[in-house]
Amino acid sequence: MEEKKYSGVLILAETEHGKVHRVAYELLNKGRMIADACGESLSCLLLAPDTFETSACSELCQRGADQVYVMKSAAFRHPEEVLFAQNIVSFIEEKRPDTVLVGATHLGRSLAPRVAAALGTGLTADCTDLQVDADGNLEQIRPAFSDNILAHIKTVTRPQMATVRYKEFQEAPVNDGAQIQIREIAPYIEENQSVKIEKTVSIGDMDITDAEVVVAGGRGIRKEEDLALLQELADLLGGQVGVSRALVDAGMAPSSIQVGYSGNRVKPKVYIACGISGAPQHLAGMKEADVIIAVNNDPSAPIFNIADYGFVGDLYEVLPQLTEHFRKDGQ
Ligand code: FAD
Repeated sequence: MEEKKYSGVLILAETEHGKVHRVAYELLNKGRMIADACGESLSCLLLAPDTFETSACSELCQRGADQVYVMKSAAFRHPEEVLFAQNIVSFIEEKRPDTVLVGATHLGRSLAPRVAAALGTGLTADCTDLQVDADGNLEQIRPAFSDNILAHIKTVTRPQMATVRYKEFQEAPVNDGAQIQIREIAPYIEENQSVKIEKTVSIGDMDITDAEVVVAGGRGIRKEEDLALLQELADLLGGQVGVSRALVDAGMAPSSIQVGYSGNRVKPKVYIACGISGAPQHLAGMKEADVIIAVNNDPSAPIFNIADYGFVGDLYEVLPQLTEHFRKDGQ
């Protein structure tokens, strides 16, 4: 029997606290452009817990998806990568999309390589742009060699797979009159023989990428307990604590709150960088904050070049004063 041709763009959407993660709306923007350029369809696949309200997917159609497939199962209550990847691989083998786009969230970063490896295809991680060449191939564009060049990558195998960072693209606009095409489909496999999740432990409800205020610490923080200084100010301002890679490498903080090129990209209203020098790889994750405040005892630290407000001084003296100032201000 002749094999089905690869066609269409598929976006892997994910759920977060019972809603669709917003990175899917950003992927729809580029996804629609790619699908239109190739004259193909744009669909989304969402693996969700059995308790998920399917109607919550309508916005995916309003933002450009021609069709949304929802696979629900009690087994998907915990986002377990191996099981998720097996179901996604089976779906892709059946539908044979030409292009698969994944948000570079914690889950997406873990899922995409597993799926690509199982399908024997290529994957470009952390793309900053996506274009289509004259032959209809996907050009996956991303910085390389520490941001010194922009690499344009094409995949010879199919499907072409790319991950894109959250908050990299604008969200696709909402069209209230769009046709809502949502199809519930049965999972291919609901039990993972090799992994059983006993319990999950939440490390906070808010994702650092969504925080409006980030109070971040770098190597200027001497010991793990001192992160409490950042936490106190973050709590006061309703924000989250972030760190540079130096603190993650030192085992003082988890990578889930690392800001930068190989960490999270954040776009808060206020970013307070304490004891962070401002290496290009750190700036890559926070330079788009609306207001940047830097605290550093070295007046020549590069972070001051992009800071809107700077405090030259010891963070152990400046930070408590800042916290006190905002506490009084809030009363
Ligand atoms: P340092 O550069 O050591 O700076 C510490 C700063 O604290 C100094 O400016 C110092 O003056 C100041 N300081 C010291 N004590 C005090 C005090 N008491 N009060 C006030 N100021 C004080 N880095 C990231 O952050 N995120 C990434 O995602 C990332 N990805 C990378 C990917 C690659 C491929 C590579 C090669 C590197 C990456 N890095 C990343 C590492 C990056 O190059 C820097 O090494 C790192 O950002 C430095 O962290 P830092 O600013 O905390 O430390």
